[in-house]
Amino acid sequence: MAETAVELGCETVQIFSRSPRGGKAKALDPHDVVRMREIFQRHDIYPLVVHVPYFLNLASSDHEKRAYSVEVMVEDLKRTETLGGRYLVTHIGHKDRDEVPDSPDALARVLESLEEILSRYSGPVKILLENTAGQGQEIGSRFESIAALLANLPRARVGTCFDTCHAFAQGYDLSEPSAVEKVLKQFDAIIGLNTLGAIHLNDSKGDFGSRIDRHQHIGQGKIGLEGFRALINSPLLPPDIPGILETPVDSPDDDKKNVETVKRLRTV
Ligand SMILES: [Zn+2]
Ligand SMILES: [Zn+2]
Repeated sequence: MAETAVELGCETVQIFSRSPRGGKAKALDPHDVVRMREIFQRHDIYPLVVHVPYFLNLASSDHEKRAYSVEVMVEDLKRTETLGGRYLVTHIGHKDRDEVPDSPDALARVLESLEEILSRYSGPVKILLENTAGQGQEIGSRFESIAALLANLPRARVGTCFDTCHAFAQGYDLSEPSAVEKVLKQFDAIIGLNTLGAIHLNDSKGDFGSRIDRHQHIGQGKIGLEGFRALINSPLLPPDIPGILETPVDSPDDDKKNVETVKRLRTV
């Protein structure tokens, strides 16, 4: 993975520390970890970001499922630390079918989960809460919901990750410079741009406001190149925010093309 990141010209990396789909995590091989960290150091790749597996649900109303999600996330925080990672990114969660969108009850369960996680892990890895597209039962697509969670959590230990595809699908327009400026100012007023640890740079296959979470290559979706150019170079963003691609791989050179595209757009 580290060698591939170098080949692709990455300046930062996001990985899963285990299979994202399920099963018990394989123990990390200390030899591999040392080699990976050496490669990152030599090539100035920083920070390393880890994403929690998809099967977690910090908002589950099923006590056992929620306890399991807490367990896995505590384990992933420790694994991220071992890997030398700076951030662990998590989606907010999924509500029950009969609850309203971004249900306050579901958000309260997320808060309870996060408080428990923080009481069981006291290391340096910071948790980043990622905005969702609001697809299906997903919660945490609106800035207000993320702000409500953060208001009750220590800022030094919990921040945010802004996903462009999810924001656009939820109804935050990023397709032109003035819209990007408006959304970033809104994010700043409601959540605070100083909480931002990372940005997920994904174009959107789904229409604006569709709540469909389908990522597209940078510039080939409904957001488009001008939206990304404005976002990447925005003076509103704090300095040195890592931009992570979660774009599709339809052909083998797609990752390289997307990395090159975002680098070409960057002027700052
Ligand atoms: Zn994302
Ligand atoms: Zn997504």
